[in-house]
Amino acid sequence: MANDAADYPLVALLRHRMGVDGAGVTTLAASFGCPLRCRMCLNPQCWREGTRYTRVTARQLYDMARVDDLYFQATGGGVTFGGGESLLHADFIRRFRALCGGAWRLTAETSLNVPPERVRTALECVDEFIVDIKDTDPDIYRRYTGADNARALDNLAAVLAAAGPERVLVRVPLIPGYNTEADAERSAGRLRAMGATRLDRFTYRVMPEWPARE
Ligand code: SF4
Repeated sequence: MANDAADYPLVALLRHRMGVDGAGVTTLAASFGCPLRCRMCLNPQCWREGTRYTRVTARQLYDMARVDDLYFQATGGGVTFGGGESLLHADFIRRFRALCGGAWRLTAETSLNVPPERVRTALECVDEFIVDIKDTDPDIYRRYTGADNARALDNLAAVLAAAGPERVLVRVPLIPGYNTEADAERSAGRLRAMGATRLDRFTYRVMPEWPARE
């Protein structure tokens, strides 16, 4: 891929974020494309047909983000790649890293339900992984996302081994209508057994328009 390929489908660029997607002050670069179809997806514009987005080069995104260079460097922050599924664009993130160097913290929000080669690329250039694992039970996961979770769990094991648990925050939600407290606790236990030490436990807020469990 050419270094200047305009291959990052940028849906939104959100600046000056704190405490929501990575350490310090962050700029969230949300991308189009996701292999999952979560029943309570908060970002359906990231996969729905007809969404408008702009394809940008790594240089263009870098130029947009660097207006906050001082904030990033003062707070240990940087750019968070979200979505959608950020690791569909792991090659792009690697090219972005080549431009921004090591001073910015690069974070990827991901389900890890992507081909393992994308994960290997991300391990070269991402400082922190925020992993939305949903639930470790395959039936619950399938009912909620429409997909199998074996690849996500295999990738998580690889990331924990290669990056170390301190670089991996795993989100373990209670999803009303899809899993129970006991299910979420089982997931947390399994994730700890895999070596995860940073778990983010929380409950999804149910919006009235979301469909009920089938
Ligand atoms: S992984 Fe995220 S963006 Fe993709 S469908 Fe699920 S909630 Fe939506």
